[in-house]
Amino acid sequence: MMMDDISNTTTGRRLTRAVRVGALTVGGSAPVVIQSMTNTDTADALKTAIQCAELARAGSELVRITVNTPEAAAAVPAIREQLDRMDVDVPLIGDFHYNGHRLLADFPECAKILAKYRINPGNVGHGRKRDEQFAQMIEIAGKYDKPVRIGVNWGSLDQELLARIMDANARSATPMDAIGVMREAMVASALESAAKAEEYGLAGDRIILSCKVSGVQDLIAIYRELSRRADYPLHLGLTEAGMGSKGIVASTAAMAVLLQEGIGDTIRVSLTPEPGGKRTQEVVVAQEMLQTMGLRAFTPMVTACPGCGRTTSTVFQELAQTIQNHVRDRMPAWRVEFDGVENMTLAVMGCIVNGPGESKHANIGISLPGTGETPAAPVFEDGVKTVTLRGENIAAEFVAIVDRYVARTYQRKSRNAS
Ligand code: SF4
Repeated sequence: MMMDDISNTTTGRRLTRAVRVGALTVGGSAPVVIQSMTNTDTADALKTAIQCAELARAGSELVRITVNTPEAAAAVPAIREQLDRMDVDVPLIGDFHYNGHRLLADFPECAKILAKYRINPGNVGHGRKRDEQFAQMIEIAGKYDKPVRIGVNWGSLDQELLARIMDANARSATPMDAIGVMREAMVASALESAAKAEEYGLAGDRIILSCKVSGVQDLIAIYRELSRRADYPLHLGLTEAGMGSKGIVASTAAMAVLLQEGIGDTIRVSLTPEPGGKRTQEVVVAQEMLQTMGLRAFTPMVTACPGCGRTTSTVFQELAQTIQNHVRDRMPAWRVEFDGVENMTLAVMGCIVNGPGESKHANIGISLPGTGETPAAPVFEDGVKTVTLRGENIAAEFVAIVDRYVARTYQRKSRNAS
């Protein structure tokens, strides 16, 4: 019997231009970059710098801040200085709407310090002013050699362009439906603005595009089209994704389809934080999305079974959580000390049905006893049973085994490397 080759599931990364953002590269052969955005008042430089540092330490490789007022623009140098004092070198992106041309012109230090400008072509003015103000921002980007993201958002879609596309559609022999018109207007807004930016003198490898919508199918359709019609790097993200599991699921559903097709060079997960929730959650979700898809590795992954009627105690849930928290807590130090530790896989399993098998597939796994099973928990390291834990201290003993495994298995980074 002939068998299909199922070893390869992705279509390969779509080749885009490489755009330098600070010391990072977005697009080209660079890995998919994670970014996030602050929700502090940018004019409060200290608060904003602290949140930028939190996001960067959580793994955000670029951080965007809103620059909406003269006070916010004036605070940008102080934010950068504070971050430098905290030893956080994350590139800062300025998010501009309506008055970006004035702020960038009036606050040259802000323009110089930001690593990239986000320009929303739907929010740069109307009529002739629109072109003038857009040109002004592009000119400043060119002057300071900054890349820009032309960030279209369906909530602020250029209404003049939309009207033009609707008129053309009405005259077409094969008109699109309203959804098609909206999607085409988004794509056209991004591509026409990029063409104008190049016309105004910005190099093609200083432009990143995004077209954010809040519907999963819209996002997929728009980015497929954008990717077909241009080779600028694409910033992927569902706008206003929502809160909690809805925001996570919608973002993942949309972005995973595109990433699987090789579309997307940088991602942002736009979660609404729950009251008291952490802003850094969007970074964790972005990392987990890329890592579970096998596109990048950031933190050791813990596989845990869901539990069922064979596990009537909460021991296995508690152990899975303890291990998950332990690797997250240890990762900042492990990252500095050990090469490749982010690729480690762990398994915490609830009973003998799938426990030993799944544990053997992980680098290090434990199979806890289900209800009625002998109260013993075999531990597997690289597929080999090394010890069986019993008694009250299984969690602490397993954590110690994980730490020893890391120290033994991953190469120590040279502290004296120049
Ligand atoms: S491994 Fe055991 S406890 Fe976990 S889901 Fe499967 S049967 Fe249930």
